[in-house]
Amino acid sequence: MATTERAAERAVPAKRVFFFGNGHAEGAGLGKERLGGKGAGLAEMTALGIPVPPGFTIDTSVCLDFLRTGDLEGLKPEVEDALARVEGSTGRKFGDPANPLLVSVRSGARSSMPGMMDTILNLGLTSRALDGLAKASGERFALDCRRRFLQMYSDIVLEIPRSQFEEILTRKKEERGAKSDADLEAADLRWVVDRFEDLVRQRSGAPFPDDPREQLWGAIGAVFRSWDNDRAKEYRRLYRIPEDWGTAVNVQAMVFGNRGERSATGVAFTRDPATGEKRFYGEFLPNAQGEDVVAGIRTPRPLVADGSGTSLEETMPEPYAGLLRVRDLLEKAFRDMQDLEFTIEEGKLYLLQTRNGKRTGFAAVRIADEMAAEGLISEKESVTRVEPEQLVQLLAPIFPTKEKEAAVQGGRLLAKGLPAGPGAASGRIAFTADRAVEMARTGDPVVLVRVETSPEDIAGMNAAVGILTTRGGATSHAAVVARGMGKTCVVGAHEISVDDSKRELRARNLSAKEGDFLSVDGTSGEVMLGKLPTQPSEILQVLIDGSLPAGKSPLFGAFTRLLERADRARKLGVRANADTPTDARVARLFGAQGIGLCRTEHMFFGENRIVAVREMIVAENEADRRTALAKLLPMQREDFVGIFREMGERPVTIRLLDPPLHEFLPHEEDAVAETAGELGIPPEKLRERVRALSEMNPMLGHRGCRLGITFPEIYEIQVRAIFEAAAEARRAGQNPNPEVMIPLIGTKAEFERLRALTDETARRVSSETGLDISYRVGTMIEIPRAALRASEIAAANCDFFSFGTNDLTQMTFGYSRDDAASFLPTYIETGILPDDPFATIDQEGVGELVALAVKRGREARHDLKLGVCGEHGGDPRSIHFFHSVGLDYVSCSPFRVAVARLAAAHAALSGGGVSSTA
Ligand code: PEP
Ligand code: MG
Repeated sequence: MATTERAAERAVPAKRVFFFGNGHAEGAGLGKERLGGKGAGLAEMTALGIPVPPGFTIDTSVCLDFLRTGDLEGLKPEVEDALARVEGSTGRKFGDPANPLLVSVRSGARSSMPGMMDTILNLGLTSRALDGLAKASGERFALDCRRRFLQMYSDIVLEIPRSQFEEILTRKKEERGAKSDADLEAADLRWVVDRFEDLVRQRSGAPFPDDPREQLWGAIGAVFRSWDNDRAKEYRRLYRIPEDWGTAVNVQAMVFGNRGERSATGVAFTRDPATGEKRFYGEFLPNAQGEDVVAGIRTPRPLVADGSGTSLEETMPEPYAGLLRVRDLLEKAFRDMQDLEFTIEEGKLYLLQTRNGKRTGFAAVRIADEMAAEGLISEKESVTRVEPEQLVQLLAPIFPTKEKEAAVQGGRLLAKGLPAGPGAASGRIAFTADRAVEMARTGDPVVLVRVETSPEDIAGMNAAVGILTTRGGATSHAAVVARGMGKTCVVGAHEISVDDSKRELRARNLSAKEGDFLSVDGTSGEVMLGKLPTQPSEILQVLIDGSLPAGKSPLFGAFTRLLERADRARKLGVRANADTPTDARVARLFGAQGIGLCRTEHMFFGENRIVAVREMIVAENEADRRTALAKLLPMQREDFVGIFREMGERPVTIRLLDPPLHEFLPHEEDAVAETAGELGIPPEKLRERVRALSEMNPMLGHRGCRLGITFPEIYEIQVRAIFEAAAEARRAGQNPNPEVMIPLIGTKAEFERLRALTDETARRVSSETGLDISYRVGTMIEIPRAALRASEIAAANCDFFSFGTNDLTQMTFGYSRDDAASFLPTYIETGILPDDPFATIDQEGVGELVALAVKRGREARHDLKLGVCGEHGGDPRSIHFFHSVGLDYVSCSPFRVAVARLAAAHAALSGGGVSSTA
């Protein structure tokens, strides 16, 4: 985005430069918005009395102003003032040849953008100051500082590529047989510095700037400009950081961790960022500068004594004790786990940075829980400390990091697709659903590999531990079903080509045959050849398998407390999309308050059912169709009885048949012959029926309520199964709460017709059983016309709307759910779309239809229940939106219920929204 497209200019505040040092910080309390994360951290630390080298921060508001005007003149008096104070508190003068003050000039935006913008160290080290520094601290040290400065400044400010300096340095090292920079002596560095200066003269046509103020202003301007470098822009795009935040600039007196063996530099976390354990954790390098730690050339040492005798605790006990005090002060002040950088200069400790530390999902949950228990944060705050998406990590099985790295480094990475179902799965390759079922019967884990999946593949998907498709996006069939099943799944791995006839796959010069092992990482999208071990998730062991007692899992305790607190905060109800009693059980254990979508068609693929389903489809008249349906009735009833048993009195929304009928018929010639045999009809007849049912565009064809209108007996039998099951549940002492949902309504008349059919069937069952079951009848809103006509549909005795945002997105954009993967990535990369609209609701377009239907629906009927059951129901950003337009509940796959509970709480706690009670 060009600067001209940025939001309106920000008012320039009167004071824009904030000094910190000697326990006094002008910017304390101003916060990250003005000072950036780094500047705010430095100001707060200074105010807390933590040793921080003095310096000053230039307000973020200056950044965009400068990028627009290119002018920093007006800032000069303020900077001069602050610089004089830094000189005062260090006792050194900027540019002084005898005892020079050297400074660092660093960027620091509101949220950390690690490594994206620029930093210059050792600034002020002019050719004259070099002699002064050499006298005070040794010639080698001074020259090493000077060569680092020349290199950084020339690269960032003068735009002379860093590589040209590296070439000179490498040449010298080779000539001297030196392994690292540290092996070069003063004379070598003198030669390097001279060559660097020659290079600058040659490339820029002028000598390297030798006036410290010219250096300073050059650096400040360049750091501001680095807000707009390509890396930073890309990072902002990825992490949704607004363009108009701008960066602050921090100018700070240098301290040196490379002044000998009593000096060091390091990083620390106040708690373990991987596990969240409350232990001090970090690394340091003696006699080194920050960049040496990052470069990873030398092996860092631990902070805390570990018996090796090399720790900071053992080798520099005094600064270590200081660091422990700082750890305590920082956690109390920032009330969060801190990630800090420190330098020890000749035995004296300095803090250079503190920020909230990045952490895994495991650490986030544990830290939030323990900080609340310690009274450091409130319970409500603890809820906001865990990103909903982070909970997925706690549920997914994983590949141990070491093993995966070894596989990737060993050249076994086959492809990277879209991570659709988090987790880790290793299994033998099966290229068809049938083979997957057969192979799984032998007890081997199976990974089902398909170009794409269809409802026919359900049994195979269920039998597999992992699913891989080479086509399809985030709401392709494979992705939706896998998420629903909690299966590890990668979709759209385009690089892989599948040769069905040879039962072989190929990518990147690698190949694998049926039966070979494949490992699928559904959290990262990586697909690797061979078998990798997995670790099951602790939460599932407690919650679902019951193989681990809750009392033995502190993680489970923290997870449960987090979600209970979230429940107290949220307004949105959370239901689950569940098709079977097993799914319903998982949903309930995860805390689902009901079922928001039971897709009845998935039941039709059960082992002995598909034949009856096919009989129904090939039937030529209503009587034959009814005969086939009569066979299905008891099976459907049994499913619903099981679901009602699991859900008790929680509402269960059951959707009547939705997909086009041809999805239930075989297409391959072999399968057609076999099925014809099963049905006792000539293959030709079946072929003819398959042909008759095939459609140019089945998603817009004979599906959804259109089936119920043309073959009312299908819906009638399904409704009967629901009510007979409810009666049975009632007789078993339960109080079932069925909700019948009509899919794909576009007109009021469709709804009226099918509502009447439902009421009539319910009435009949009631008079047969003598039991009155209370129920609701509602519709999905998944066709734009239905959203627009929400008012009259609601008024037609419609009890609820459930937004089917998968189809609503498909039909609003006109993008096929199953084919969009061929162009959506380009759309997102080029910024035409901000996100995949099938994963995160398009608030502007699809969202407007939702909001409009909510408004019109509620106006027509104030007690209309409103929910969403598309994939967006489990997406945190979409959940925010659904909260804000006032839906009653979201419904998502059972394995995302925890995520949705937490996201709904975040939405409620962040304010805004008009959500009514669930
Ligand atoms: C939808 O369209 O959002 C929906 C939930 O139905 P399905 O995904 O089964 O089409
Ligand atoms: Mg739909």
